[in-house]
Amino acid sequence: MNRFRNWLVRFMYGRYGQDALGRFLMGVCLVLCIVSIFNSYVYIATLLLIGVTYYRMMSRNFVARRRENERFLKMTAGIRRQFGKIMNSVRRNSANSYERQNYKIFKCPQCKQKLRLPRHRGKIEIRCRKCGNQFIRRT
Ligand SMILES: [Zn+2]
Repeated sequence: MNRFRNWLVRFMYGRYGQDALGRFLMGVCLVLCIVSIFNSYVYIATLLLIGVTYYRMMSRNFVARRRENERFLKMTAGIRRQFGKIMNSVRRNSANSYERQNYKIFKCPQCKQKLRLPRHRGKIEIRCRKCGNQFIRRT
């Protein structure tokens, strides 16, 4: 296994390797692979695209490959920004629901200070950290 890795490192030396466009093409190839089960034209297109993807990785023409990658990044900048926004809001929502599931907010009856406490502890005595008032609530 180590010998294979050494060989691979030596083989890839001076070659372009992977970039954003390459990863995108790999993803497209994967999807097309599945579709090509049902359609032989798609199968041929998939083989061609896999060829292009590997050609780019093996290429020694760094300038041309970088230019392709930059063009790809520029073309997809808007989409990637939108996608990033969506992913961020998904992450935020799941963080919020984790928060709601595991913590409960209580309001001190005396000073209205908001207190965040872990749920599922049963009935406990809560001590307000602002005014020191104590009250009992079910968590
Ligand atoms: Zn208080």
